[in-house]
Amino acid sequence: MSVSPELPEATDITIVGGGVIGASIAYFLTTQTDRDVTLVEKDFIGAGSTGDSSAIIRHHYGDQEIYTKMAWWSHQFYRHFESELDEPIAYEENSRVVFAEEGSDDAEYAEDGYDILSQHDIPVTRHEHDEFDERYPMLDLDKFDFAVSDDTAAYSDGTDVASGFARAAGTRGATIVTGTAVEGFNVEDESITSVETDEGAVSCNDVVLAAGPWTHRLAEQLDVELPVTPSRERVVILEPTEEFLEKYPDGVPTAGLPGGYYTRSEFGGGVLIATHHSGEECDPDQYDNLPNEDTLLELHETLSEYVPELDDAGIQGRYSGVYSNTPDHDFILDQCGPEGCYVAAGFSGHGFKQAPAVGRLMSDLVSSGESDLVDVEYFSLSRFDSHENGHGGGIEY
Ligand SMILES: Cc1cc2nc3c(=O)[nH]c(=O)nc-3n(C[C@H](O)[C@H](O)[C@H](O)COP(=O)(O)OP(=O)(O)OC[C@H]3O[C@@H](n4cnc5c(N)ncnc54)[C@H](O)[C@@H]3O)c2cc1C
Repeated sequence: MSVSPELPEATDITIVGGGVIGASIAYFLTTQTDRDVTLVEKDFIGAGSTGDSSAIIRHHYGDQEIYTKMAWWSHQFYRHFESELDEPIAYEENSRVVFAEEGSDDAEYAEDGYDILSQHDIPVTRHEHDEFDERYPMLDLDKFDFAVSDDTAAYSDGTDVASGFARAAGTRGATIVTGTAVEGFNVEDESITSVETDEGAVSCNDVVLAAGPWTHRLAEQLDVELPVTPSRERVVILEPTEEFLEKYPDGVPTAGLPGGYYTRSEFGGGVLIATHHSGEECDPDQYDNLPNEDTLLELHETLSEYVPELDDAGIQGRYSGVYSNTPDHDFILDQCGPEGCYVAAGFSGHGFKQAPAVGRLMSDLVSSGESDLVDVEYFSLSRFDSHENGHGGGIEY
């Protein structure tokens, strides 16, 4: 196994960032190509957004079929992660439900997703209002008319997966260097020649920028402008009473809640509630990681409105994490700037579930410039040339 704290003097491909995306790219490049791969992480594997991820895996994406395809492909990969990579990951199946009022935008999103999941033979069920009491006895759903359940959705753990990918890449020949920060790049004749770090330089032909909410700052050094805005997202984990756990041993379904929140069950019996696209811009190096008392109250009250029996739940944990948002909430997966420079950024709060497909796509892009998984052109940076909002403003995935 070639996991080393030492930075090599030369490699074929340097990946910057050891989150779930960089680690997945390292795994696919190592297993699908014969190129020499070095991943450089400034801190530790999973130190960025990945370590804070709710790690929900769902396939319902409204009318965005490209993401449904990638999510389903990724989910099959996650299901076989342990047996294929020999790395255990936390994993729990839990349906993800979209509740909607007839005639609303949510209804259109729910129905579009239902159609696409059905077309792809992905288990999906529509429940009418009169079934709610039986299906979702813990929820107060008076205001909704119907629900679309992505029946085989799941959740996992960001750190488990990123570490598993990194270790598996290392076992198969990649060099994984942690505690080393990339500080700059050298370019000759418009091609990448080396990467500068605080431990020295590594010469390489290709570099993949996968540094989460830090990527746009690194890209600026290569005159690549990425329209990515980091936002702070707040997470609270409630501790239900024994009575609640006995009554609802499977916890709550994963669901978006009106007002920009979502909830899911937590490993060990907790119930998580978090903000989604809070709009609270932040600096990934200096944000308040501990939600305050007002946040506790806001999130607890919001959840209790839909799950009244959590009104007297205790607090198990709280933290904040950072999303890297593009204007359209679509990823940027592209070759841009000098030859040999690739970018995987702007995951806009939905990168975890797609990480295996992104790793495979980026490996394809770096090695052949195209992919047969999905049309990688959809994720090109140039979509922002003709329209500053790319595919359209802030689609709520
Ligand atoms: C609270 C929260 C909940 C989420 N929930 C979900 C969910 O339920 N489902 C889902 O699909 N997605 C979810 N996401 C989104 C998902 O977690 C992210 O899209 C994904 O983790 C992004 O991974 P990444 O590797 O791009 O970035 P990161 O995990 O941030 O990794 C980037 C890495 O680069 C390193 N780095 C930065 N600069 C340098 C440098 N100069 N040199 C070397 N290394 C550097 C950092 O230390 C970091 O480890 C959530 C995110 C948050 C914050």
